[in-house]
Amino acid sequence: SPRIGVLALQGAIAEHVRALQAVGAEVSTVRRPAELAGLDGLVVPGGESTTMARLAAPAGLLPQIRAAHDDGMALFGTCAGMILMADDVSDAAALEGFERIGGLDIVARRNGYGSQLDSFTADLDVVGLDSPLPAVFIRAPVVESTGAEVEVLASAAERPVAVRQGRMMASSFHPELTEDHRLHALFVQLAGA
Ligand code: GLN
Repeated sequence: SPRIGVLALQGAIAEHVRALQAVGAEVSTVRRPAELAGLDGLVVPGGESTTMARLAAPAGLLPQIRAAHDDGMALFGTCAGMILMADDVSDAAALEGFERIGGLDIVARRNGYGSQLDSFTADLDVVGLDSPLPAVFIRAPVVESTGAEVEVLASAAERPVAVRQGRMMASSFHPELTEDHRLHALFVQLAGA
């Protein structure tokens, strides 16, 4: 079965580990660059992108995740993880001076749904799934634009909320917070292919 790591600096770590195990992956946690060796895929969880970028900086972990991806490791970023994977983050003062992962050709805006829609749930039609997926959004990033290589897998209120580009997937919501693990299954399938 595919070997999937979960970046374990901060955020929703245990929930991703459980979801990945439930869909048959061999799961490990990643705190140091050496722990990236041999992974077919890595989940970059939700939480707080600025905290994760700060904790990752001393070991240069985020650029090394990018390098591992360039060598074939699949990536799945959720919420804050999507922000760390985005090529561009608008309104990113709090991330300035910190290296990110990058590579996903989108512009993401942190906390872009504003206070009124701070947190909400939605049932999403997702490309590749035959019935709606329940999705939990928590201070989620808004995807402001997507590049030509980016496939939109799901939208809410006419905005992309799940995307794929080659061996990268990202969602602005938290798929690990429900008992529906089909998005994790799609990722494990992508990572193992
Ligand atoms: N607002 C957070 C950030 O900017 C993301 C929230 C989340 O991951 N649930 O990193």
